[in-house]
Amino acid sequence: MSRVKPLTGSRLLLARLRDIMASDDVTQQARLDKIVSIIANDFVAEVCSIYVLRAGEILELFAATGLAPGAIHSTKLAIGEGLIGRIAAQSRPLALSDAQSHPHFSYRPETGEEIFQSLAGVPILRGGRVTGVLAVQNQTSRSYTEEEIEILETTAMVVAELITGDKLLGKDELRATDGSTLMPIILDGVRLNGGLAIGKAIFHERARPIIKLVSDDPVKEQQRLDRAVIEMHGSIDQMLDDPEISNGGDHKDVLKAYRMFAEDVGWLSRITEAIENGLTAEAAVEKVRNDTRARFRKQTNRYLRERMHDFDDLAHRLLQHLVGKIDSNIRNNLSNDTILLARNMGPAELLDYDRKYLKGLILEGGSTTTHLAIVARALDIPVVGKLEDALDKIEPLDAIIIDGDKGQIYIRPGQTILQSFTNSLNSKNEQLAIFASLRDIPAMTEDNINISINMNAGLLADIDNLSETGADGIGLFRTEIPFMDSDQFPDVNRQTDLYRQIIRRSEDKEVVFRTLDIGGDKDLPYWDTYKEENPSIGWRAIRISLDRPAIVRHQLRALVSATEGRNLNIMFPMITEITEFDAAKEILQLEIHRAEAKGREPIKNLKVGAMLEVPALVYQMTALLERSDFISVGSNDLFQFLFASDRSNPRIADRYDSLSMTGINFLSHIVEQCKLSDTPFSICGEIAGRPLDAMALIGIGFRNLSMQASSIGPVKAMIRSLSVNKLEQYLRSLQSHPSHNVREKLREFAIDHNVII
Ligand code: PEP
Ligand code: MG
Repeated sequence: MSRVKPLTGSRLLLARLRDIMASDDVTQQARLDKIVSIIANDFVAEVCSIYVLRAGEILELFAATGLAPGAIHSTKLAIGEGLIGRIAAQSRPLALSDAQSHPHFSYRPETGEEIFQSLAGVPILRGGRVTGVLAVQNQTSRSYTEEEIEILETTAMVVAELITGDKLLGKDELRATDGSTLMPIILDGVRLNGGLAIGKAIFHERARPIIKLVSDDPVKEQQRLDRAVIEMHGSIDQMLDDPEISNGGDHKDVLKAYRMFAEDVGWLSRITEAIENGLTAEAAVEKVRNDTRARFRKQTNRYLRERMHDFDDLAHRLLQHLVGKIDSNIRNNLSNDTILLARNMGPAELLDYDRKYLKGLILEGGSTTTHLAIVARALDIPVVGKLEDALDKIEPLDAIIIDGDKGQIYIRPGQTILQSFTNSLNSKNEQLAIFASLRDIPAMTEDNINISINMNAGLLADIDNLSETGADGIGLFRTEIPFMDSDQFPDVNRQTDLYRQIIRRSEDKEVVFRTLDIGGDKDLPYWDTYKEENPSIGWRAIRISLDRPAIVRHQLRALVSATEGRNLNIMFPMITEITEFDAAKEILQLEIHRAEAKGREPIKNLKVGAMLEVPALVYQMTALLERSDFISVGSNDLFQFLFASDRSNPRIADRYDSLSMTGINFLSHIVEQCKLSDTPFSICGEIAGRPLDAMALIGIGFRNLSMQASSIGPVKAMIRSLSVNKLEQYLRSLQSHPSHNVREKLREFAIDHNVII
């Protein structure tokens, strides 16, 4: 058995590879051909081959020296097949001095490889996923050293760059698979905002892309790494010193463990080793991150998978210190087909991006996303959330399709899928143009019933949509959104400024301000509430306002002073019993008297209403309607309480249906009560913005709907094609329909009567 002395000059090898990659006078194939012969030479191996993973999980021999030339592009192996397939399947190197006696050895006659006894191969990884295999073979029985394998892995990192660009393989390969490779993937998540988007993946809070892989000076690279590690440790220490964190609790322990990993000698020495082998500090971090991901990816053990996330996160932090973050300059100079990816983000962070570049949003999280979804909805960006591990499966600039309606995303879609989504998007855009043409036409049904269509809003920027959509007014202004989009409690002046601008810019259109609805899933980052078992039925909305009256007093003070002699419409969220409504109105009266005492211009017309979101209130309607100027049904909350079904839990998202006769009959009862007392009523939950649902609402008597801006066109088109009279009769006939929902029945009605839904 011959033992070859360890290779030196791996840096020379990398430098030569870099020159080949940089030369622009050859094809990618010619580059690969040169690369295999250089590697074979350096490794004193008779064979060097590169297999590239193609559609359908096939490893195709793309370049080889030492094998029969006819085998190139004709030898194809499945993942797991033969030794090469095994390296890909396990994402691990393999070194065998007697390859032929290995149980997985599979002989391919067209290659002529029966004469080669030993083999060393490494996966070619990108983002921790296999994109191919790089192998060397020797005729004699040879032991490959650990250093040689390490060098082969480092080389594979550079080769990965070449084979994963779109010049070698078209991006139109067919779909597979479980996400361990770079093949197209479809993932199912949860719809947080509907709509379609096609674009390129950009990671929120990611490091800049790595441009330089091969270094000229390992000593300098090591110094860069050392500096970056010190900076990173410093920034983690700073987090640990943060008083909020040092108060203890689980998060402090988690961060301490994380800090320990940041000093992990094994991890850091592997990075150093890659630098010594010729990579730049950032490429070395990336290489070790790839290896770690590949190693951990197959882990089913939850603890170990979480460790992968820790190391992944640390690599990401280290890269930020080495190459800098995506800065605001980049944030605002993204290409205009950006699909933003984040584990989780706050609404303010989303608002940091220039809206005109954002096509869609993908989130791995999480229960805290609902308020973000509300902002995304206001910005009209499709969002899919609860996509566990999605970020691991996506590479920067990968093509992505978001099907927000289905809560699905397509990663690196094939050409056929891409084309069919592009067609749908085009026809959606045509539809949008049709809806825009309805802007100034009243929402009048075929039998001349006028429906007031209003808009839900939460940002100053939303006010532009008032004129763009032709909405009659703002039926729900969620005042908590500006609170969430702030790093501290906005003081009275700041609130007054904002409300004043909203009222002024809405001109003669009415705005209904809902007082703070925080708590539940809407946390304010700067306000400490304690964790609750059931936050949506916990300390939230009016309950907080009444227990901490200063908060709502300041808000009402701001609203009253922002009015400047115009109309003011206020409603209180989550009223459960009449005393709460009375108490809230009393606070409002205090502020009105205060304004009068200060000589402020009186409010022209004040209307105070309650949101009907808690079923208990339905059984106090007489008392409620006596003291309410209007009622606004918050069906999002109302149905979650009616059906005892958490609105942000994807598992039960389809368990009960608002378009069941239970839901419809319940709402009908509310409508009847309001009509009897002649109290204006409207509905502002998501149900009002879906054409089929809105049709049912009109059928039971709602004449005032408030919805997200993008729903106004479709709902108006539905209304203009609807005859209410026929619908009312039809709904009456369904009254005791026992099934899960009456969606199909309503759809049939719409089709039979040419209602556009
Ligand atoms: C509702 O509950 O229907 C509603 C409009 O309020 P939010 O979605 O903000 O809780
Ligand atoms: Mg609500």
